[in-house]
Amino acid sequence: MRFDVITLFPEMIDNAARTGVTGKAVEKGIVELKTWNPRNYTHDNHRTVDDRPYGGGPGMVMKYEPVFDAIQAAKKDSAQSVSVVFLSPQGRQLTQQIVGGFSERSRIILLCGRYEGIDERLLEAEVDEEWSLGDYVISGGELAALVVIDAVTRLLPDVLGDKNSAQQDSYMGGLLDYPHYTRPEQIAGQNVPDVLLGGNHGQIEEWRMKQALGRTWMRRNDLLERLDLNDKQQRLLAEFITEFKFRQTETED
Ligand code: SAM
Repeated sequence: MRFDVITLFPEMIDNAARTGVTGKAVEKGIVELKTWNPRNYTHDNHRTVDDRPYGGGPGMVMKYEPVFDAIQAAKKDSAQSVSVVFLSPQGRQLTQQIVGGFSERSRIILLCGRYEGIDERLLEAEVDEEWSLGDYVISGGELAALVVIDAVTRLLPDVLGDKNSAQQDSYMGGLLDYPHYTRPEQIAGQNVPDVLLGGNHGQIEEWRMKQALGRTWMRRNDLLERLDLNDKQQRLLAEFITEFKFRQTETED
């Protein structure tokens, strides 16, 4: 998988993406990462990448030409066909499903805006897709590009130590993840649930499924509504809800 990132701050991408899980994937050659700085495609002494907005108003706007030339250089660097993905608060919101789709491609160009954004004509001419982290604004597209790089990389084969760990993460099967515990067995008056200490793998699996269903019901009922639960899952969720309501009435008394 290859990521080409168009950015005025390549060091942000390089430093963060070469750390941890993504860093290992780059080292192993599973992920190839290249940055392209529009500033290197300017032709004036000041290496100008931004200018004042037509019509006035606050802030600066990234200029068409250097961003266009950086994108063309990235495209020409490999024969693989590639989509240009603009990270933007105005795009559709990223989900695990979208990220999963990205992980099946061989290459993506990630375009990072700064300032008030990029000249609209460049976006119209060059951008194939526009994706957002969520309904809030950050100062530049680099953090969003890093989120995409990280979320995609952890889905690629041979990246995570245990190939099942990404499969069990929240959203992968449409549910939130179950709770996790590690040593010590007791801390601050709280115990690890008995079932996790018993070594019965069938019971552990069932308990985890029940917790995942229960958490999703409590925190993200909208996700549950989209799923077609099988009989066992329906039974486990019903048990969870009964137990939850029972605990609630106990604490009220
Ligand atoms: N004026 C723009 C607007 O309101 O739509 C916001 C510009 S923002 C300060 C600068 C850049 O940060 C954007 O061009 C985009 O690349 C990136 N950015 C900001 N919020 C984002 C979000 N929620 N998701 C993805 N990228 C974002």
